[in-house]
Amino acid sequence: MATEKTLNDLFLDTLKDIYFAEKQILKALPKMARAAQSEESKAGFLQHRDETEGQIERLEQVFEILGKAVRGKTCEAIGGILAEGEEIMEEYKGSTALDAGLISSAQAVEHYEIARYGILIAWANQLGLADAVPLLQATLAEEVATDKKLTQLAHASANPKGKAKTQAA
Ligand code: FE
Ligand code: FE
Ligand code: FE
Repeated sequence: MATEKTLNDLFLDTLKDIYFAEKQILKALPKMARAAQSEESKAGFLQHRDETEGQIERLEQVFEILGKAVRGKTCEAIGGILAEGEEIMEEYKGSTALDAGLISSAQAVEHYEIARYGILIAWANQLGLADAVPLLQATLAEEVATDKKLTQLAHASANPKGKAKTQAA
């Protein structure tokens, strides 16, 4: 049977998807900070954890704009990406390549978020949700900035360090 679903439903479902994802990310970032070896990596993960709290609040504001209850919808994609991060924590524990691996996991998370926020902004514009657009754009800017910072961290320290077989004293 054909259903009456429209772009409005897609927008709400995707909002629930990223809301679920952000909540999972909020829990994962302190674990990544604890696992990371360098102080810079730790600080980077913790700073983005604090930003993520604000991102969750912005999403709650978007639910409010829509007049919908704040609800998450299980996102299997973020579950898989975060599970890969956990795998790196276990398999690379104590190795020089740990931080490079953790940063790569964090970047996979950021890229998922960038894809989601990009599409939500496009749909919010299409649907005339003018008040939602700046909220989503503010978060997208933070995700993009985080991704850039992670790239710099990887190039400047984690990747070169990861090439060595033993930890520098
Ligand atoms: Fe986020
Ligand atoms: Fe998802
Ligand atoms: Fe993020």
